[in-house]
Amino acid sequence: MTPLLEVEGLTKHFELGRNETVHAVDDVSLAIAPREIVGLVGESGSGKSTFGKTLLGLHDKTAGTVRFKGEELPARYGAAHFRRYARAMQMIFQDPYSSLNPRMTVGEIVGEGLKLHTRLGSAEIRERVTEWLTRVGLNAGHLSRYPHEFSGGQRQRIGIARALIMAPEFVVCDEPISALDVSVQAQVVNLLAELKESMGLTMLFIAHDLSMVRYVSDRMAVMYLGSLIELGPANRVFFHPKHPYTQMLVGSNPEPDPASERHRPATAIRGEIPSPVNVQPGCRFANRCPQVMDMCRAETPALKAVADEGAGERIVACHLY
Ligand code: SF4
Repeated sequence: MTPLLEVEGLTKHFELGRNETVHAVDDVSLAIAPREIVGLVGESGSGKSTFGKTLLGLHDKTAGTVRFKGEELPARYGAAHFRRYARAMQMIFQDPYSSLNPRMTVGEIVGEGLKLHTRLGSAEIRERVTEWLTRVGLNAGHLSRYPHEFSGGQRQRIGIARALIMAPEFVVCDEPISALDVSVQAQVVNLLAELKESMGLTMLFIAHDLSMVRYVSDRMAVMYLGSLIELGPANRVFFHPKHPYTQMLVGSNPEPDPASERHRPATAIRGEIPSPVNVQPGCRFANRCPQVMDMCRAETPALKAVADEGAGERIVACHLY
């Protein structure tokens, strides 16, 4: 199937001066098929959010290409590019507390994209906003209220309505549940799964919680210190992780599912993710890896296809394979 989104060698560095460079995202390639959800996991500082924002032009690209429906997107977005792509690609932000303008009503927030990017009149915008509030479990009575009057889960629903009212084809969900109570997380994930089915959405779902990612995603991608280190069908990566980092990440997942077939690895994740400043050659996980070998510190492992019993391609960047 022709991918909806093709990312090749995407790199995002931030120059700090004094010859210091933050390697936030390094040479990441990934293709996402229409109606596919790819879950992107990794610790804080792994580059997940920067990858998502660079995809959508919220950061300029340092190198690499992003093609949407075969069309190469610019390395640096101007206002005209945002106008052009706003309807096709949207982002649902991490923090429902800071991403909604406190001085705007819910009706204004959800309808803002339609007002800026369409020729719809105010009555029609109000009708669409009401329809979307209902779709995400709110109602017309909320139109004239302000964000501070809502709970975290309700604010995230407002953020979802604001993004999806534009009928985008591709959505980046950047940690959409991490600021929410555990009891509300499942509701928001279920809402996204339902909207994915009803709208035929294609999504990059960035999250910490591997159980949620497995539940909502077709494939799971794992990032570590700016690099993609494992990619495969979500269930296979979750139940049979191959890269030592993924094994630790699964082992330290905060919400084990006792009814699952998953065998928790004996090792939980240890140590801190290293600084992304001036990253050296060699495996980026070498200082935390229990299976490190001499060659790991000298040679950067390339991503390669590895044998897997399940259906679908499995790629891993590790000298063990
Ligand atoms: Fe561990 Fe070496 Fe594999 Fe890196 S390449 S994950 S250090 S075994």
